[in-house]
Amino acid sequence: MMKLKEIESKSILVKSGLSTVDYVVNPYIGCMHGCIFCYARFMKRFTGHKEEWGQFVDAKVNAADLVKNGEKYRGKSVFFCSTTDPYHPPEARYKLTRQVLEKLIPHQPNISVQSKSDLIVRDIDLFKQFKHIIAGISISTLDESIQKKVEPLASSPKRRIAALKKMKKSGLKTYCFVSPIFPGITNWKAILRKTKSFVDEYWFENLNFYPSIRANMYNFLEEYDPKLVDKYREIYTKGNSYWYDVEKEIASYCKKNKIKCKIYFHHKSMTK
Ligand code: SF4
Repeated sequence: MMKLKEIESKSILVKSGLSTVDYVVNPYIGCMHGCIFCYARFMKRFTGHKEEWGQFVDAKVNAADLVKNGEKYRGKSVFFCSTTDPYHPPEARYKLTRQVLEKLIPHQPNISVQSKSDLIVRDIDLFKQFKHIIAGISISTLDESIQKKVEPLASSPKRRIAALKKMKKSGLKTYCFVSPIFPGITNWKAILRKTKSFVDEYWFENLNFYPSIRANMYNFLEEYDPKLVDKYREIYTKGNSYWYDVEKEIASYCKKNKIKCKIYFHHKSMTK
């Protein structure tokens, strides 16, 4: 059973360890989407949660009050979110992402926001008040039956695509985060074909096979297609040549089709 708790946090805009972003905002600890591949489950260690990932959420109900000295964020890049989804189901009730965004409007940071939920369209009115913003939806598959298994409580691919379309139609700059790319499952070309008329750029990320997600992934693969179990073992134990080839293919496809793309592949940590 999902445990939802309200907490008071000490900070909300946190300096990012990512080279591409100045600050990250995480209005929740935990994420109700409960994706089986989620790397953010390391948050359990830091917060003392014993529940399964996806089975607990702490809502930082004082999030908006923590946005202080807003001018220091002017022109800085702020990313929603790195260890939760800004629009997972509790956001419909708490509106914490919305409240933090509202507080930031007068200070005009450069916002990037990314979700697996079509609740994101609720805040189009706020997004439009930022001069520099890019709004993204993450998609790993167009097949709803697979999506339900790997990202159980996120919106269906159809709804995510509709959200991207709506954001583009309202004049926003959009991106599609094709992530994670599951070997033998994710048809990234099909995702591009389906969305390219309303997506400005694509970001790609491969499946990072953290030790903490391996059992989940192998259980899923056993059920979905046992042949893939050996394929994954091979990919993740024999160096990174598989991913170098995928990366090359994506880069050349995007170049040929004049698609703007960023590739965030993690070769180094792949086989550890
Ligand atoms: S939506 Fe993102 S943060 Fe939430 S469980 Fe899935 S991968 Fe993790």
